[in-house]
Amino acid sequence: METYDFRAQRLFVPDDLTDVAEIRLDRERAHYVGDVIRLAVGKAIHLFNGRDGEWRAVRAPGGKRDVVLVCEARLRAQAALADLDYAFAPLKHARLDYMVQKAVEMGAGRLVPVLTRHTQASRVNIERMRANVVEAAEQCGILAVPEVLEPLPFPRWLAGIEPARRIVFCDEAATPGDGLAALTDAARGPLAVAVGPEGGFSDEERRALRGHPGTLVLSLGPRILRADTAAVAALALVEAARQSAA
Ligand code: SAM
Repeated sequence: METYDFRAQRLFVPDDLTDVAEIRLDRERAHYVGDVIRLAVGKAIHLFNGRDGEWRAVRAPGGKRDVVLVCEARLRAQAALADLDYAFAPLKHARLDYMVQKAVEMGAGRLVPVLTRHTQASRVNIERMRANVVEAAEQCGILAVPEVLEPLPFPRWLAGIEPARRIVFCDEAATPGDGLAALTDAARGPLAVAVGPEGGFSDEERRALRGHPGTLVLSLGPRILRADTAAVAALALVEAARQSAA
């Protein structure tokens, strides 16, 4: 893996990043850079926007509240998003924050909230999820920023799966070892990793998943994992399979 200065402060900005860009930060980011990390004039920070790679930018002279960053050099080219959906039943608050951040760290390309029969979260805060995506990307040196889709009811999500996309159905009822060999083959193509809610998928959902032509049933071992733990375990296996298939 290329050497990377993980100590550098990183900031996601929506602006285009070019060698002539001067970024005037919005109030929230200006507060963070000016008052929280107290970036001094002339000091550098790494900027990324999910499109233009990562840039070294230096704080320009200006007012206390007015933080302007001037791009100097591109440090890393933009990375591509993996064609990897993480399809999950939304959890409540802190566990959802954790699961979203881990899915980003583990390489998900799209986060797809799926409303299943036993989903306990009554409403899904998309903006909070998107903020967690950005926070995970900032903290882990990630340049490809996953998209968070609007929640879909399970039947609509399943019906909308493209024919080429294999569903990796994480099924706690599967036999330990199920799916691992098939995953290495499937890992080359587009995937949707599916993890159920605290109460698991319903029998009807489980039948629909197992009956779907593109489904690969994956066991995550002999123990029943919490959904947020299952996210990390499943995406780690997918990443390992993708690396071994590369
Ligand atoms: N009812 C328990 C609970 O409340 O935590 C278990 C449900 S489990 C957390 C939720 C999801 O995690 C399941 O629907 C499945 O997708 C995944 N999962 C958990 N353990 C698993 C295993 N050993 N193998 C495959 N998937 C698993």
